Amino acid sequence: GKTLTVGLIPADGIGREVIPAARQVLEALPSDIMPARLRFENLNAGFEYFQKHGVALPEETLVALKSECDGALFGAVSSPSHKVAGYSSPIVGLRKQMDLYANVRPVISSEASTASGKKRAIDMLIIRENTECLYIKDEKQYEDAGGKYAIAKRRISEHASQRIGDMAFSMALQRDGMRQLATAAERTWSGRPKVTIVHKSNVLSVTDGLWRETVRGVYEGNEKYRSRVDVEEQLVDSMVYRMFREPEAFDVVVAPNMYGDIISDGAAALVGSLGLVPSANVGDNFVVGEPVHGSAPDIAGKNIANPIAAIRSAAMLLERTGYDAAALAIYRAVDRVLADGTIRTPDLGGSSTTTEVVDAVCKQL
Ligand code: NAD
Ligand code: MN
Repeated sequence: GKTLTVGLIPADGIGREVIPAARQVLEALPSDIMPARLRFENLNAGFEYFQKHGVALPEETLVALKSECDGALFGAVSSPSHKVAGYSSPIVGLRKQMDLYANVRPVISSEASTASGKKRAIDMLIIRENTECLYIKDEKQYEDAGGKYAIAKRRISEHASQRIGDMAFSMALQRDGMRQLATAAERTWSGRPKVTIVHKSNVLSVTDGLWRETVRGVYEGNEKYRSRVDVEEQLVDSMVYRMFREPEAFDVVVAPNMYGDIISDGAAALVGSLGLVPSANVGDNFVVGEPVHGSAPDIAGKNIANPIAAIRSAAMLLERTGYDAAALAIYRAVDRVLADGTIRTPDLGGSSTTTEVVDAVCKQL
């Protein structure tokens, strides 16, 4: 039969607790739901590894990922806030080396995040371009008679906009396929799949103009997208306004790097604890699931980190590698544990341990 090989890169802090937790959940999937055999490769990276060995993302890790793995799970890295000679972030390096050009973040409301009473059915997928925009970091400071000033370059290319646009529309269809597997009660989005293109081309008509035209062009040029997906546009400022007023109005949202960074952190605030929010770094041939949170040194080593963000990231990996039913089973199991409410880590107001949450999720499978 088929085998799915998953690289595990716990890296630092609570990464070492939540990545093994996610592995345990993957291993608990019954074989009728997960038809492939799972294999795991434990791989090194991180700041602690750098302190011991002088490199944060060792070559062996990259070689193993490229030659043996179908996807990977990354925990978190304790990046120092001061500059350390020779150090650069392993997750940033990984995105570059594996050409993971999209950062994908689902924002889903759950019982745990609706303590305010008003039930909101948020089920949004934010797709952030991850290779260019202002993050090319080409900035420079000058000085003239008027004083100091600085200029940053912002790169928007047809190539990058095209491939991220294509990913947004194909993920909209893929999500729709997942929804068909779910029950009506589980579905928060009932209409046709929709992609919202975020830009500010009323002001930045050249850069955002190229982005907008290119992403629209992907849609116009593909009959499958045109016939099955709706498209709308939103200026980035009103996107933020609408997202806080009526987050239930969005399905897939696609944005250039900088806008996507800001929108996706803002969206995470809509659904509660960082310990719940997963993400995936996606390229054409590889996916790395990654909880949005950091290494949380304040709670590391105590077995109280919330493993749900990492567990959901593992489900995203399954979705991307073609195991929709297995992914759905994990999302469901997590939702049931959250809805039940008796097993919760301290970040959600409970007193359960990481291990107890993992056991509860596995039991639901
Ligand atoms: P953080 O996400 O690590 O922690 C912020 C707060 O949220 C802390 O109080 C922490 O205890 C809590 N928290 C985070 N994840 C949790 C979980 N799963 N369960 C329960 N509580 C959780 O952010 P920070 O404190 O700003 O950064 C700590 C370190 O992590 C820094 O070195 C930073 O550079 C790094 N970091 C890494 C990433 C990444 O690897 N992608 C992202 C953010 C921060
Ligand atoms: Mn950010």
